[in-house]
Amino acid sequence: MSLPEYPHFTLTEVAPGVWAALAGDTGACISNAAVIDLGDRTLVFDTFQTVRAAGDLRHAAEALTGRGAALTVISHWHGDHTGGAQVFDDAPIVATARTCELVAGEDPGDLDAYTAELDGYLETVRNQRDGAEDDAQRERAERNLQVLTLLREEAPGFRFTVPAPIDGDGMSFEGSERRVEMVSYGVGHTESDLFAHVPDAGVIVAGDLLWVGHHPRVNDGDALAWAAVLDRIGGLGPSAYVPGHGPVGGKADADYLGGYLRTVHELVDEAITLGLDAEAIGAIPVPAGSEAWGSVGRFHGSLASLAGTDS
Ligand SMILES: [Zn+2]
Repeated sequence: MSLPEYPHFTLTEVAPGVWAALAGDTGACISNAAVIDLGDRTLVFDTFQTVRAAGDLRHAAEALTGRGAALTVISHWHGDHTGGAQVFDDAPIVATARTCELVAGEDPGDLDAYTAELDGYLETVRNQRDGAEDDAQRERAERNLQVLTLLREEAPGFRFTVPAPIDGDGMSFEGSERRVEMVSYGVGHTESDLFAHVPDAGVIVAGDLLWVGHHPRVNDGDALAWAAVLDRIGGLGPSAYVPGHGPVGGKADADYLGGYLRTVHELVDEAITLGLDAEAIGAIPVPAGSEAWGSVGRFHGSLASLAGTDS
């Protein structure tokens, strides 16, 4: 069966009945999502950033499995994974209790406040673009501008959506053909990250616990704890990982990111000990092996934030 095509993401079948929706470059989604067919019910993992991309994801889930989502899972609080949740609110949307609190903390209140917030961001990013000192800064601003412009266009129809908390650190979702385990090992990429394990297929849908080919955002979590979470997930013996950002990966990608995160932890310690300023931190080379990765600004931004020199 050829897979349906959508403008903002590409579908790929990771294992029978497990599809990754990998973000393209239109700005409507910047992170990945997944659809899992359990035989008689369908699970959607993460909801993208915009309503338009989430609407296509809903369509994709229905086209691939013949039914809508019985459950939608939110991996963590970041807006690029939660922004489209309203599209799936005719069935339960769940996350860990801490993630629910963190999402609720992002509530803009009402439409006026939300549009004012977006207009403020748009102005800031336009200024960043106009004042960019190099191509990397300019490209980063252009990308943010692309995303914010789409969000601003959609703002009148946007409904802020908070997931419902699961009990404890995990949840089992059972269908006629398979079972999916949603699991949290606590602090990692953020204070609370949930991933999906599809045991019969050997697939981990990792959310932002895994980034492939992109420098990760580290400063909302704990680099060392995150590396340990990746080790623990590796212990489940998966053969494929759907990352939050980048193409479908494997255990080598997860192991590499674990080493990268331990290096980040050491670099932050060193920066604090040596009292490095923002400029010196900006000159720190990326960990060996990640030289070709996208969004290098995120690496230096994470270091500066963790070392406390970004304010
Ligand atoms: Zn994230």
